[in-house]
Amino acid sequence: MSLLRKTLNWYARLSTARGKSLPPYTHVVQIGDPTLRRVCEPVPLEKIRTDEIQTIIKKLNYVMNKYHSVGMSAPQIGVNLRIFVMRVTALQIGSIPLERAKMIGMTPLAHAVYINPEIKVVDYQKVVHTEGCESFKGYSADVPRYKAIEVSGYNAKGEPTKEVYKDWGARIAQHEVDHLDGKLYVDIMDRKTLHCLCWEEVNLSKGKVTIPFTPE
Ligand SMILES: [Zn+2]
Repeated sequence: MSLLRKTLNWYARLSTARGKSLPPYTHVVQIGDPTLRRVCEPVPLEKIRTDEIQTIIKKLNYVMNKYHSVGMSAPQIGVNLRIFVMRVTALQIGSIPLERAKMIGMTPLAHAVYINPEIKVVDYQKVVHTEGCESFKGYSADVPRYKAIEVSGYNAKGEPTKEVYKDWGARIAQHEVDHLDGKLYVDIMDRKTLHCLCWEEVNLSKGKVTIPFTPE
């Protein structure tokens, strides 16, 4: 174990919230957690309305809201089942520069739950934009994604559901379905573009800056 790792673990032990917790978590697991590399199991359709699955969906929504994310997949809260949620609010779009929102094609998207999702590519054009992941907190990289896709699956009531997404919506859905297959954006990113989001702050603060693993 490196000195850094020892120091970090020492700090973690000071946390008042420390203790064993069981999935579905109310935090987001980080890269290195084996749960992010497993291929998730499909949800048996007759189980969708059970308390177990409904609780997982509620936790996914809770964590997505808590972290102000546009998507969240079950493995990110420690559950290896094929479920993800997504949405884009006007508030989220307003939090980034208008020019960037336009460039990346970020538009409001209704909240959606997908169980056992399948993706069909509608537009094979690959679009490259900077992308991040709550499970690789503090970093970002350029990632190519298909321009438009159709997601089909089941909603929280167990009814079949289907939607075509383009641009940023298509990116979110592809990112989340990748999670269900044990894949992360680092697997397909342009490696030279990977960067720490606070690299400038590290210099300005002479290194006295930390990446929070809970929402800011
Ligand atoms: Zn992610």
